[in-house]
Amino acid sequence: MKSQKIYPLAFSFECFPAKTERGKTTLIETCETLAKLNPCFFSMTYGAGGSTRERTLAAVAEVKAATAIEVTPHIAGIGASHDEIRALLDHYRQQEIRHLVVLRGDIPSGLRDAGDFQYASDLIKFIRDESGDYFFIETAAYPEIHPQAKSAQSDLQSLKLKFELGADAALTQYFYNPDAFFHLIDECEKIGIDQPIVPGIMPITNYLQLARFSDTCGAEIPRWIRRRLEGYGDDTASIRAFGEEVVTRLCEQLLQGGAAGLHFYTMNRAAPTLAIWDNLGLSSDKASRARR
Ligand code: FAD
Repeated sequence: MKSQKIYPLAFSFECFPAKTERGKTTLIETCETLAKLNPCFFSMTYGAGGSTRERTLAAVAEVKAATAIEVTPHIAGIGASHDEIRALLDHYRQQEIRHLVVLRGDIPSGLRDAGDFQYASDLIKFIRDESGDYFFIETAAYPEIHPQAKSAQSDLQSLKLKFELGADAALTQYFYNPDAFFHLIDECEKIGIDQPIVPGIMPITNYLQLARFSDTCGAEIPRWIRRRLEGYGDDTASIRAFGEEVVTRLCEQLLQGGAAGLHFYTMNRAAPTLAIWDNLGLSSDKASRARR
């Protein structure tokens, strides 16, 4: 893999909009703590079909106000109409938000109408048609292949199409096998994709939750990691210590191998990400400034 370090390294932290008052307080406290690391941006997830629309909008504004760090909203196209997305884009323009994570979204069970955007590429095209180059667009990439892809090749072509239609960079699904990431970058280079692709990092803190997530999103937990975690049973301290060691090592390999940064899935908790950050010896200077 050729180093992607021609771009400034981008460190970012993904959060989700909380449902309860207590959750909202935790979200803000988490972001205030992680803001001290001077990340490139926080990103805020969005429920496909608009299920978290109001909560996402509110959380984006609140985290931005509390931290003065750029907050990048996710937008999921599935189930949405052109008018709904137009209204969302107008809202973000008014908030002077210029950076989006653009996705198809996880298809909600029982969804009857796919709406105006079948794939993320349809939404990227729409945003470029509506807003020119106003927004910096991140898209999703899958080192271990998206679970619904017809083939590895078609998944790669889908990623290429998203870049051709206007994506500027990609954040990946999480994974624990660095070779899957390096292989994806090599394959991208072969077909002329040279935009930065930042690996997604999921700290390990709770085995059952991780196993459930991984089954649905198609991320593989290597057997040796799974068996170790299973062996710890209810011993959460050992799970965390082992998880921290494994994920720190993964991040080291990715950065040494030339990855363009790290995108942490924080699950709205600061401590697991902070521990890995400290182990990596990353200073707040290393987290690059906003991309635009
Ligand atoms: P797409 O790029 O549209 O791909 C979906 C599937 O369709 C893939 O299998 C692809 O190979 C295939 N495909 C694409 N284009 C074509 C085509 N033209 N013809 C045939 N097949 C095609 N989900 C949420 O609901 N909300 C979030 O906030 C959210 N945030 C995420 C953040 C990151 C960094 C990542 C990696 C994922 C996130 N997800 C989120 C999950 C994501 O929405 C799911 O993985 C979803 O199933 C696919 O989204 P996508 O944007 O990659 O879709």
